[in-house]
Amino acid sequence: MTGRPRVVLASRNAHKISEMARILDQAGLHVDVVGIEEFDDMPEVAETEPTFEGNALLKARAVCVATGVPAVSDDSGLCVDALNGMPGVLSARWSGGKGDIANLELVLAQLGDTPDDRLAAHFTCAVALVLPDGREAVVHGEMHGHLMRTPRGTHGFGYDPIFVPDGERRTSAELTDVEKDAISHRGHALRALVPVLRDLLPEQ
Ligand code: IMP
Repeated sequence: MTGRPRVVLASRNAHKISEMARILDQAGLHVDVVGIEEFDDMPEVAETEPTFEGNALLKARAVCVATGVPAVSDDSGLCVDALNGMPGVLSARWSGGKGDIANLELVLAQLGDTPDDRLAAHFTCAVALVLPDGREAVVHGEMHGHLMRTPRGTHGFGYDPIFVPDGERRTSAELTDVEKDAISHRGHALRALVPVLRDLLPEQ
């Protein structure tokens, strides 16, 4: 035990846990970030809400109740203008669970012959914080850009190989982790969480 306040991130993804720990640490916030694998009998929460915010809150509430520890959860996805904001909250399972490559190939197929100058898209991320005393907060982050039809790059995940952030010529799969953190929807949302944690958590 370090005596520092603990926050549980509603995730089993070690990359997400270290990313959050790094961003809070860089902000001078002394908090221990743990994942749900540190706890027994964690509920599996289906993302059934129609909004990123709703899904993030759903998961954070369930994890906070199950652990008794302040819980943070994120939900994110790709919103394509020419597809009326889809795949949105369905980003992870857009091709019916066939994986990242099938998901991005389906999005490209659905765009059909949409002109190249109408391929604007953005990633969005909602991060929810739920405290055992019932207080809740949600912060958001976005990364705007456009899609390209030929996947490029091997970093990142999901739709990164077809997404070119504004101000970049590279896809987000061609950026380093540090470069992507600095401009990504999740990076923006996690940095927006810092002052909220500073306000709501006991002594850090
Ligand atoms: P989740 O919020 O981790 O459940 O992510 C939802 C889905 O959105 C992922 O499975 C990806 O398909 C997509 N997504 C979210 N963030 C990113 C990103 O930074 N790059 C590429 N795809 C992303």
